[in-house]
Amino acid sequence: MTAAILDGKAVADQIRSEIAEQTAQFVAAKGITPCLAAVLVGDDPASQVYVRNKQRACENSGITSRLHRLSAGTCQDELLALIDELNRDQAVHGILVQLPLPPQIDESRVLQAVSPLKDVDAFHPENVGRMVQGRPRFLPCTPHGVQQLLLRKNIPIAGSHVVVLGRSDIVGKPMAIMLMQRGAGGDATVTVCHSRTRDLPGLTRQADILVVAIGRARFVTADMVKPGAVVIDVGINRTESGLVGDVDFEGVREVAGQITPVPGGVGPLTIAMLLHNTLAAARLQT
Ligand code: NAP
Repeated sequence: MTAAILDGKAVADQIRSEIAEQTAQFVAAKGITPCLAAVLVGDDPASQVYVRNKQRACENSGITSRLHRLSAGTCQDELLALIDELNRDQAVHGILVQLPLPPQIDESRVLQAVSPLKDVDAFHPENVGRMVQGRPRFLPCTPHGVQQLLLRKNIPIAGSHVVVLGRSDIVGKPMAIMLMQRGAGGDATVTVCHSRTRDLPGLTRQADILVVAIGRARFVTADMVKPGAVVIDVGINRTESGLVGDVDFEGVREVAGQITPVPGGVGPLTIAMLLHNTLAAARLQT
């Protein structure tokens, strides 16, 4: 069997055109343009690319974007002062602090400083708590993008066994919680695996849907996948042969039923859901 490609970019384009339409309606009704303020500390090349892509996506959807660039030597108080200013600025609806932050800055302290109403990454503890309780204000962009892909491609989630490989706060953990919630897009039986999991291949082979977010190039091989399974590769790894996922795409596509490519899979969906959250934030604040 050769897996069908799950074209995340096409689904993301669809979502983005829906958001552009909804944004135009919002602007016409309220006379206010949603605005995302991105904060970039330091000169990490990958972060610069991510922020540029997010800004470009905003502009193409009718959302204003601002970039606040701070030097790599910025101290925590300086960054907190900027966030405080953005929290109080009524023209700004969403605040995105691009991670990672330099080592002198306490990431969790900074993420907690963002107003929960402007927290379009959904990293603030209040928004995490609401998501866990099944009454989300914002959903974190990457797992939300994966969930949208599954829903829009009519992949059965309810009752399916989903194995999430990775338990980070930004991908694995929220992904598992979202897919196990009651209701549409949820009701899955979820197993979460990580670096201390015993017999990883034995567990991943049980997955109807395998979501991989570990940050290890081509880690998941064909022998770890059940024939016909849906494989979602969240990984982005820079290698000598270019960008590759956490899944050995060429091998796994011979076993899986459906698979996301890297690039062109989950990445564009993450950006689309950021736009979704920025529009939602503007709605909440007006
Ligand atoms: P992370 O914070 O580094 O977490 C990695 C997780 O994988 C941890 O839970 C770790 O387990 C687990 N892990 C690592 N090695 C493992 C192994 N050999 N066996 C089993 N589990 C293992 O990573 P992340 O932020 O979630 O990102 C994961 C990947 O997704 C990265 O490639 C990142 O670039 C990519 N990403 C993509 C997008 C997108 O938009 N497409 C967004 C975010 C991230 P422990 O907890 O036990 O250490």
